[in-house]
Amino acid sequence: MDVELTHPIYDIVGQVADEMGIDAYAVGGVVRDYFLQRPCSDIDIVCVGSGIALAKEVALRIDPHKEVHVFHNFGTAQFTYLYNNVEWEIEFVGARRESYQRDSRKPIVEDGTLQDDQNRRDFTINAMAVCLNSSRRGELVDPFGGIIDLDRGVIRTPLDPAVTFSDDPLRMLRAIRFASQLHFVILPECFQAIQNNAERIKIISMERISSELNKILLSERPSEGLLLLYKSKLLSYFFPELENLKGVETRGGLSHKDNFYHTLEVVDNVARKSDDLWLRWAALLHDIGKPATKRFDEKLGWTFHGHEVKGAKMVGRIFRRLRLPLDAKMKYVEKLVMLHLRPIVIADDVVTDSAVRRLLFEAGDDIDDLMLLCEADITSKQEAKKKRFRENYKLVRQKLVEIEEKDRIRNFQPPVSGLDIMQTFGLGPCHEVGVIKDAIKDAILDGTIPNNRDAAWQMMLTLANNMGLKQVDSKSDDSIIM
Ligand code: ATP
Ligand code: MG
Repeated sequence: MDVELTHPIYDIVGQVADEMGIDAYAVGGVVRDYFLQRPCSDIDIVCVGSGIALAKEVALRIDPHKEVHVFHNFGTAQFTYLYNNVEWEIEFVGARRESYQRDSRKPIVEDGTLQDDQNRRDFTINAMAVCLNSSRRGELVDPFGGIIDLDRGVIRTPLDPAVTFSDDPLRMLRAIRFASQLHFVILPECFQAIQNNAERIKIISMERISSELNKILLSERPSEGLLLLYKSKLLSYFFPELENLKGVETRGGLSHKDNFYHTLEVVDNVARKSDDLWLRWAALLHDIGKPATKRFDEKLGWTFHGHEVKGAKMVGRIFRRLRLPLDAKMKYVEKLVMLHLRPIVIADDVVTDSAVRRLLFEAGDDIDDLMLLCEADITSKQEAKKKRFRENYKLVRQKLVEIEEKDRIRNFQPPVSGLDIMQTFGLGPCHEVGVIKDAIKDAILDGTIPNNRDAAWQMMLTLANNMGLKQVDSKSDDSIIM
């Protein structure tokens, strides 16, 4: 079969390899993605010889000043290449044979043939190579039937799966990630080998684990990968909190829903509407506090009171362990977990202006994401209940727009600041300032005073008067009480 790879780098590599008298191939993901017609922006080149020497020579042809990153300990070299407004990562490696020791995923490496190099690759669909030399340009080298597996939608290792997964346990996560991204099936003996080797995931760094987990979350239906993580037992080694959501308990004939499956459904619902990784994380964690707050109440049945507060508190610990960013992205996930019941509560009751104003104030610019999460959270099997919630949501959404137009709460800044209060009454930072500030904020959110400076100022004066505070000349410093 002739494969027509069109990127200009292939012509240059082919020409240079001819001149150097070595064989060079495009290999791995780039060949797979060519057949799947998936976009791809990293190209792997393998040559039977020195990958570093080939990379340097190719770079020289493109631009004598091109920066080449050489990794001597891996025998690889890499540079970037701008084409069609995309920054392509071009990586070169010499064909090699690998052997592994039990306690590490770092192999002992020797020079090898193309076949040796294909043997060390993780899956048949990732082990295909396309020759770039002019005499064999476009020739597909596919020793394990990768093309057939692509067609059948199958993930399979080139060699014995038990050895492949034990050698480098990261491959277990990669198998699940590809299954999720491509909607492929992991062959049963391959999956069995993952289950048998799951414990070996312990030698993999959290950064690599979360990078695969994020790719699963970003796939079209994340539940496919998440379910495989659970079934393979891998989940229990790096994300026990998610695994703990699994299970149904029944008492007095009353059962609660299985929160693991519910969570998967919510993540898929969100994924249908948004590509945002952190919103998907919020969906994944929205009920994470449920196991810790589960109670059985004789009158109410199963309850999970406060699970949103508990869940929000767990976010930081989970992000830290998984080496996810601890910046604004984590805060965003915490906030959505914390607030995820609020629109439901409002929608379940009479939709009051004041409840909507408070929700707007607390969610700020994340209100649309919060509403999306909450609608995704409706997974009831009872159609009538679902319909009622959806209709009430419509009402909440309508109210949100009306109130935002009227009161501009979304980026609410109190019209009277703490500094205003301190300067007017000659106070330092103290309890009274907080009380006045909060009372003004509450009055605006409750709609008892309008959201403007005059009304807020009047209220400040009244409150201060009731508290026995006296106005001072703002230029005098003598009267400041600390
Ligand atoms: P993506 O780029 O979407 O993450 P990919 O398959 O291209 O997928 P890369 O990490 O770019 O993954 O790796 C390129 C190729 O290197 C793979 O297609 C595979 O042949 C090989 N490879 C990568 N990681 C491993 C591994 N852990 N074990 C064996 N082979 C691997
Ligand atoms: Mg790749």
